[in-house]
Amino acid sequence: MTDILSARQLLDHLVSFPTVSSDTNLPLIHFVRDYFAQHGIESVVFPSEDGNKAGLVAQVGPNVAGGVALSGHSDVVPVEGQDWSTDPWKVVEKDGRLYGRGTCDMKGFVALAMGAMVKANSLDLKRPLQFALSRDEEVGLLGAPDVARGLLENYAKADAVIVGEPTEMQVVTGHKSCDDLQFHVRGKEVHSSRLHEGVSAVMCAARFVDWVRQQNIESQAKTPTATAALYDPPFTTLHVGVINGGTAHNITAKDCYFSIDLRCVGDDRTEDWLEKIQAQIDVIEAEMKAIDPNSFFDMHVMRGPAVVPEVEGKAEALARRLTGDNGTHTVAYGTDGGHFQAKGFSVVVCGPGSIEQAHQPDEFIELTEFQAGEAMLTRLLDSLQTA
Ligand SMILES: [Zn+2]
Repeated sequence: MTDILSARQLLDHLVSFPTVSSDTNLPLIHFVRDYFAQHGIESVVFPSEDGNKAGLVAQVGPNVAGGVALSGHSDVVPVEGQDWSTDPWKVVEKDGRLYGRGTCDMKGFVALAMGAMVKANSLDLKRPLQFALSRDEEVGLLGAPDVARGLLENYAKADAVIVGEPTEMQVVTGHKSCDDLQFHVRGKEVHSSRLHEGVSAVMCAARFVDWVRQQNIESQAKTPTATAALYDPPFTTLHVGVINGGTAHNITAKDCYFSIDLRCVGDDRTEDWLEKIQAQIDVIEAEMKAIDPNSFFDMHVMRGPAVVPEVEGKAEALARRLTGDNGTHTVAYGTDGGHFQAKGFSVVVCGPGSIEQAHQPDEFIELTEFQAGEAMLTRLLDSLQTA
């Protein structure tokens, strides 16, 4: 058995793996698996389809109901093009802060959760502590369904899932859904002087993007419902962040690709929005096909379900006991939590660090936040020793 590492030492290890979502996370996953194994904790690993990445679940304590699962993701956003004043893959402590990619989002919490698991293994737990580490969170919450299913298939169902995304230890009970809609518009190439005989994929896409812009204006102008008012901003948003298409100024574009980030407030249904979007696409596509039947306007949806505030949720009650926070909070960013809730788990989002520092150059977590996270998990271990 190797030495027990402190949460801070575990963080050093985790940050040193450059687990940008586009790259493999296997060295990190194997580090977690091996560290747990060295301390007598068995994990289950879930490889991705291409085998290049994996998620992992583990459990400590008796396999009985009433446990608590700690959820984190292993991937981080890229550092390319960002102006870092320290090495992003090395934790640097300065002025009461721990700098490094992922310190805040969210290897800090993962390190704390790993520390808690090993500590828990030497305690007499009456209810289990579970651990779920996903992949590909930053690129559409792709790995969460695997680990959520992994918990259910391997262990007694936990009473609560704490998703440790940075909330500055506030108890967050809801967030918008965040769906990634990807579009491919296929037009017909002709010389631009004959544009009436062609179909410009770029111009068809632009027409749709303008419709999207109008939706935001209309949504913002509406009086928010009581549920929507819990969110900031209190309305559903559609955002086109990337658009690519065309080959030359004098050729009608054959292809155009773009994507929309759709974030629905609590009582706005994603399904309704997708229907509305599809109806608009159908109108444009019909006009395209009238000129060239081979043209099309395709949409591919990657779902990122919302965390919906629960009525008397067990996870919320637990997090309130552990943190003392009794405020009402929702956030505008997505988390793996929606996938756990979709599988019937009670979910709360609560973790150290501020979302303001996530994804930024010189990302950091305040040491005080890291310590507050550790204190919360210590209280959790205390509570798991009672029936
Ligand atoms: Zn995150």
